[in-house]
Amino acid sequence: MRLIVQKYGGTSVGSAERIRNVAKRIVETQREDCRVVAIISAMAGVTDELIKLAHEMSPDPDKRELDVLLATGENAATALTAMAVNALGARAISLTGAEAGVLTNRIHTKARIANISPKQIQELLADDYIVIVAGFQGQTAEGETTTLGRGGSDLTAIALAGALNADACQIFTDVDGVFTCDPRVVTEAKKLGEIAYDELLEMAGAGSKVMQSRAVEFAKKFGVEFEVRSSLKRDVGTLAKEETANMEDVVVRGVSIDRNQAKVTVDDVRDEPGVAGRIFSTIAAANIVVDMIVQSVSEHGTTDLSFTIHENDLGAARKLLEPVIREVKAAGLITKKGVAKLSVVGIGMRSHSGVAARLFDCLGKAGINIQLISTSEIKIAVVIDEAAVERAAQLTHAEFGLAAFAPAPATMHPLG
Ligand code: ADP
Ligand code: ASP
Ligand code: MG
Repeated sequence: MRLIVQKYGGTSVGSAERIRNVAKRIVETQREDCRVVAIISAMAGVTDELIKLAHEMSPDPDKRELDVLLATGENAATALTAMAVNALGARAISLTGAEAGVLTNRIHTKARIANISPKQIQELLADDYIVIVAGFQGQTAEGETTTLGRGGSDLTAIALAGALNADACQIFTDVDGVFTCDPRVVTEAKKLGEIAYDELLEMAGAGSKVMQSRAVEFAKKFGVEFEVRSSLKRDVGTLAKEETANMEDVVVRGVSIDRNQAKVTVDDVRDEPGVAGRIFSTIAAANIVVDMIVQSVSEHGTTDLSFTIHENDLGAARKLLEPVIREVKAAGLITKKGVAKLSVVGIGMRSHSGVAARLFDCLGKAGINIQLISTSEIKIAVVIDEAAVERAAQLTHAEFGLAAFAPAPATMHPLG
């Protein structure tokens, strides 16, 4: 019998009616002679609401307590889904992340999975239960509740699919699959038939929140193929998998945008060994994720060092860096909110040149100023004013002819 891991995101379980719809799909899958493990997110908006409430209690809520609080969102949705499945005459049982065997490190709110021991899930499956697992949460070796970072139910699903050696992993969401750009930003965006892990990883890291980037990282590391598809339609979605030779024919697979970024510049800092290490180790110690880093050409023994972080981390970063700025005798710290990142991604960039020139030209002609640039083998990213980012995404999408690009559906859609 095939084992299918399904994940239903917040919007897909956003109301009683939606939960009943999810329950129906789960039961249908079981009736196709499959064993089913379903990972469920908190109902749409619940996690945001809980975070908001926590900040009404304290400007800097205790992270341990935040995890205890946030886990309740998934606990509620999971129990409701199990009830809905049972009401359809099937047999379901809900499990917390801890019960499902998701063991993590101790970094509250951004915990990493250390190990999965899905013994209880396996026993329940053997007893013909449909197992409904709370996404986004785990437990430390000491039994403390942790959460896996925003969007972390994707990670629970991929990790469980890997640990259970599932025959298929399906990520059900509120769009039809992975698109060439967020379809809410670029209406002409097209659903992709397939995408390489590396491309989706870059897109997720560049702000396409359709999949959590750590989940894609995990999938790549352990070779877990998965399909992103709609919970409201029957159509096949997008298959994420290891790259194949013909994937390089497409130069740009997608455009991603990341809003709510902040730019930090350490102004006129001595250009000597150890300075960058001092600055970035301070930031890293607070678990703040630094994205683009650009150092300007050294002039008279000093240089400017700029980088981007999430806007929410700006206050903490500024507080941490102020003493370091004095210590390394930099002229000052300049910070700027209201910037966004736009990235073009495609493994075809490895074998095709001229993508950067085309992107810069396109933005230049539209009067959009580029503030920072960074590149990887398969990505070019620029920082621009947030106010211009949607227009920039639409222009870039058109420039690279993405709307016209409609790849043939992948050959291996599980349960297509
Ligand atoms: P879920 O609640 O199911 O986890 P998310 O809200 O986390 O869903 O992710 C789905 C959303 O991702 C879509 O509604 C869409 O607006 C957004 N998105 C951003 N970039 C893309 C993209 N390239 N393709 C598809 N969706 C995207
Ligand atoms: N509920 C969590 C969040 O909103 C996890 C998830 O939805 O994947 O981030
Ligand atoms: Mg999500």
